[in-house]
Amino acid sequence: MAGLVKPKEMAQGIYQIQIPTPFSVGPVNVYLLEGDHLTLVDTGPLTEEAWEILNQGIRNIGYEVKDIRQVVLTHHHADHSGLLERVRQASGASTFAHFQAVPYVELNDEFMDFHARFFYELYHQCGVPKESLIIIDKFHRRTMSFTERSRIDECLKHGKTLPHLPDWQVLFTPGHSQSQISLYRSNDRVLIAGDHIIKNISSNALIEPPLDQSRNRPLTLVQYRTALEMCADMEIDIIFSGHGESITNHRKLILERLQKNWMRTDTLRSLLKDGAKTAYELTTLLFPHVYQKELSLTLSETLGHIDLLQILNQLEVKQRNGVLYYSL
Ligand SMILES: [Zn+2]
Ligand SMILES: [Zn+2]
Repeated sequence: MAGLVKPKEMAQGIYQIQIPTPFSVGPVNVYLLEGDHLTLVDTGPLTEEAWEILNQGIRNIGYEVKDIRQVVLTHHHADHSGLLERVRQASGASTFAHFQAVPYVELNDEFMDFHARFFYELYHQCGVPKESLIIIDKFHRRTMSFTERSRIDECLKHGKTLPHLPDWQVLFTPGHSQSQISLYRSNDRVLIAGDHIIKNISSNALIEPPLDQSRNRPLTLVQYRTALEMCADMEIDIIFSGHGESITNHRKLILERLQKNWMRTDTLRSLLKDGAKTAYELTTLLFPHVYQKELSLTLSETLGHIDLLQILNQLEVKQRNGVLYYSL
């Protein structure tokens, strides 16, 4: 009876609860932080099963959902934020996140319209066939069904401490998501990283639209690498992630991830030796077994590495009928 086991204290005043998700990434880790205000970091997705296990997990630690005074989102993705409104309604907790999470959490109509247009145009540029565009749309709708409209009471800023938990500092670590933050406690060198760093999967630097519609899309893999380098410079004894096990040798892991990027750019270059290709064609070659099932993830991977090569001036781009073709 896993539900009856008291979760172990991961570090002083930090408890982890594993919540099942309907996504291929598997269960998500949420954290309960004791302190002046009982704080929940992430909530899990909006499913009955997740809600039940969250309630049970909090009870096993010795509290009730109604005792939660504040909720912090590490980022806006549905596996981390879907139950926010339920927790808010049940507890009256204050809610905190980076400002870039706000339009997603509030399901701002204007932003969501722009979001849909942005991806439609981007995928057309990538050369994604029409029939696959429908799959992407379905994927997006399915993801959105595991979240509901809520609100953020206060936005968190890089370098500032968490309200009512002065030991915890907020770090802006964008790349996986534009709203991704990590939480750092310097006295015992603990980092709660959300999806910024995960032990057994390299986090995807997902393409997301800019918050300001007049700007170009953020170069998410470039941002991601910068945020990884920032963490490599920090003194960290243990990282608690949004998925999977905790990490104790963060520098080694970060170095591996950074090097893996350059290996993939090498593969991209070799794929372009026999002529120009679209981002979609490159994705089918880079990820032949998963691109159909995980098109938005794999396309983000490809675009991120195209961005790296473009920054190095190693790619030429030609446009034909709105589709971009890359060559060496
Ligand atoms: Zn995520
Ligand atoms: Zn996640």
